Amino acid sequence: MLVFLSVPVHASASDDLSIRIYVDGKRLETVRGAILVENTPYIPASFLRQDLGASTQWDSGKNTLTLERSGSKAQFILYERNAVIEGKAVKIDYPPIVLSNEIYVPAVSAGEALKIKVTWDIVSRSLQFYFPQGNATLPDTRAPADVSDPAGQLPQPPNGTVPGLRGDDVSSASPDRTSGDAVIHSIAVSGDQIIIGADRAIHATAFELSDPDRLVIDIPNSKIGSTLNGQPSGLNGTISVSHPNIQKIRYALFNNNPSTVRVVVDLSYAAPYTVGHGDDPASLIVSIPSERFKVVLDAGHGGKDPGANTYSKRYEKEFTLSLTLKVYELLKKEPMIEPVLTRSDDTFLELDERSEIANNIGADLFLSIHGNTYSSASVSGTETYYYNAASKSFAQTVHKHVVNDTGFRDRNVRQQEYKVLRLAKMPAALIEVGYLTNPDQEKLLFDEDFQNKIAHAIVNAIKEYLKL
Ligand SMILES: [Zn+2]
Repeated sequence: MLVFLSVPVHASASDDLSIRIYVDGKRLETVRGAILVENTPYIPASFLRQDLGASTQWDSGKNTLTLERSGSKAQFILYERNAVIEGKAVKIDYPPIVLSNEIYVPAVSAGEALKIKVTWDIVSRSLQFYFPQGNATLPDTRAPADVSDPAGQLPQPPNGTVPGLRGDDVSSASPDRTSGDAVIHSIAVSGDQIIIGADRAIHATAFELSDPDRLVIDIPNSKIGSTLNGQPSGLNGTISVSHPNIQKIRYALFNNNPSTVRVVVDLSYAAPYTVGHGDDPASLIVSIPSERFKVVLDAGHGGKDPGANTYSKRYEKEFTLSLTLKVYELLKKEPMIEPVLTRSDDTFLELDERSEIANNIGADLFLSIHGNTYSSASVSGTETYYYNAASKSFAQTVHKHVVNDTGFRDRNVRQQEYKVLRLAKMPAALIEVGYLTNPDQEKLLFDEDFQNKIAHAIVNAIKEYLKL
């Protein structure tokens, strides 16, 4: 269940916006004021107890508030709309909430559960309670508090996640009025960083959730300032940002004890992140890379260019496409990599078109995948090519992984002026995985399982090169 609550108006006796409370038509001067949450009047449990004569019992294990009065009994669960009234499960429109270490219940639901008629007039801001005829009227407000609650105050909700809410949902609890909490005054995005600013040192725990991808940052012992980013703030809100990977940032006072601000960063995809401090311990810096690495995968040949004839008269273009698509599928699962194909089917492309695809999208890496041939069937092994010096280390990394994983003969990393390599403006390599003219290697190179093994080796190489 999702509960989004607007900023509650704290009404006090001297406040013009205070809610007038009447019991059986008589104005009640009580410090246990009602509040409005989303235009719905809420009353504190202590009001039920001390002004309406109900007994209240809080079960912190079940987060359940049990109310009893004149034989009527109701159970409300914190932050849930499921209640039990007279032993029957019912849905209430608004859930009990915690504000300032006090449990508040929706006045109408709570009153009706206790057979007290409740009316609310928003214009005069009057909340009226009527006891049934012949029933006891006003309870003695000086009566001792319930034995179930000897301290005269309800226990605080348990630590940790506010019950009844999905683990990550941003919902409001109450502002913590105790001193010592850091006041968060800004949540801003600068470049690839989200900077959360407070008036004193803050620390956070962070974790990622999927479906949809989001980063959850909990900042204990903190609260939202009365202004955030220079604007009046609520207990919760949304910050829209311009960042390729961040859709929006949500924040809320998530827990009351300890006062914990939760910031949820809604991501476009599951990106790695870091959370830490710069020089200022009062600033929390969450780094989220804005861009994925674009890796162009080029399946050699295609269409009218079949590439080499293999030992058993198959075509190189089949092998290159089949392997390249496997690499592509694996790379798609890497959160920080955006793979791009030069061809995804049996299409002919000029060599310069292949490099152009990579150059046009500003690719970070280019890898062309081939199978080798020789006039003698006995020749076998892996060769990897580069042209620009800047590409050498990428070629070496790919070569190392593929040779290791295939067990093919190491025929070295070589420099060669292949057109696709020369034209590419980023680290670019061309791998001749094995010899298609060698019957043993051909068999392996066309084997699905073996292709998967090669694809994994290439993906591991790309990840190692990109330091992922
Ligand atoms: Zn080729």
